[in-house]
Amino acid sequence: MTDPRTINFGAGPSALPESVLEEACKGLLNFKGTGIGIAEISHRSKEFTSLVAELENNIRTQLDVPPTHKIIFTQGGGTGQFSAVVLNMLARHRLLHPNLSDEQRVMDYVITGSWSKKAAEEARRLGGATIHIAADSRTESKDSKSFDGIPAHENFDFSADPALIYYCENETVDGVQFSNDDQSPASFPFHLLPAGDLLPLVADYSSSFMSRKIHRLADHAIIFAGAQKNIGPAGLTILIVRQDCIVDVDAAAKLGAVPVPITLSYKANADAGSLYNTPSTLPIYIASLVLERSKKLGGVEYFESLNGKKAQKVYSALKEGEEKGIYRSKVREGAGSWMNVTFDVLGNNAEAKFLAGAEALGMKALKGHRSVGGIRISIYNAITEEQTDKVVATQEV
Ligand code: PLP
Repeated sequence: MTDPRTINFGAGPSALPESVLEEACKGLLNFKGTGIGIAEISHRSKEFTSLVAELENNIRTQLDVPPTHKIIFTQGGGTGQFSAVVLNMLARHRLLHPNLSDEQRVMDYVITGSWSKKAAEEARRLGGATIHIAADSRTESKDSKSFDGIPAHENFDFSADPALIYYCENETVDGVQFSNDDQSPASFPFHLLPAGDLLPLVADYSSSFMSRKIHRLADHAIIFAGAQKNIGPAGLTILIVRQDCIVDVDAAAKLGAVPVPITLSYKANADAGSLYNTPSTLPIYIASLVLERSKKLGGVEYFESLNGKKAQKVYSALKEGEEKGIYRSKVREGAGSWMNVTFDVLGNNAEAKFLAGAEALGMKALKGHRSVGGIRISIYNAITEEQTDKVVATQEV
């Protein structure tokens, strides 16, 4: 690379490792020695199908995905899954309980930020079931409007036999994340879930996928994530789906379930090995390069340790700033995200000065999401410890 690159703290699409981008440039011209570029080669070629297998294998081994769960690659992003999880899980529930009315069929949503709120809105829009809000962190916030923490366990109220139980593990906009320590009050209350082995637990891991181990992965029915934070460009969506959730949606539709568009059907995609229709070939390629690199570095454990260290550095600087009266965290202690740290800079024009100071040092995309304002420092996998030190030093200017 000849031109200096800006340090991109953006929340997504976000920075990718430079070595990967350099390799991807070569693959754009000549993929796996075929003489054809990755953006040009057939998705049915043996070179491409072996790439899909490599990517799947990298995810399965690095995250310890058990054989009970399939890995599916699709498109449509996290937003596409807000619809797909509902449709597939309603089909599953219809096959299990054909005679329930829409009012009797329930879907539980845990609301901890703007992404889970959006997901619940989409479920409501699609219909076919009653939406039950199992917990909403706003009820515990200072102003009853902001998403500033994880609800206390005693405030969760799950239904007895819902078609799905939904939560977002990391709220990218608000900077709130469930703890991966069951003893923490900010953990997901697995112990309060209704009894049963095959619970319909669905988690949006879009902004924390591959940043650390997935906590209690085997207890989930579906985990989904867009690639564009930690592992690649936008356009690729990764699904980890327990096999009992890969159902015949057409059989369910005959019993009255909402019909499922074929590209959203988990079964159609799983049966075709994620190649039902043309997949996002270039993002799959780049994600595969990112995860090969991650494997060489020590896998997701390597990133878990690095990301923990980075988060600790940013949060201790934030705490120091709070003590000095120059910063105010947007999130209550214990619920702060490892990936997106959100806070306000206090004082007249202080935020603009902070952003200008960072930009002068080559750092960009630190402005908080337009809906919440303030500063958001996104420290995804590609952000190094040195870059983290640099942004922390800016805060002290
Ligand atoms: N869920 C989370 C946690 C996100 O951060 C995002 C996007 O940033 C989405 C869902 C929506 O993803 P997409 O834009 O890929 O549809």
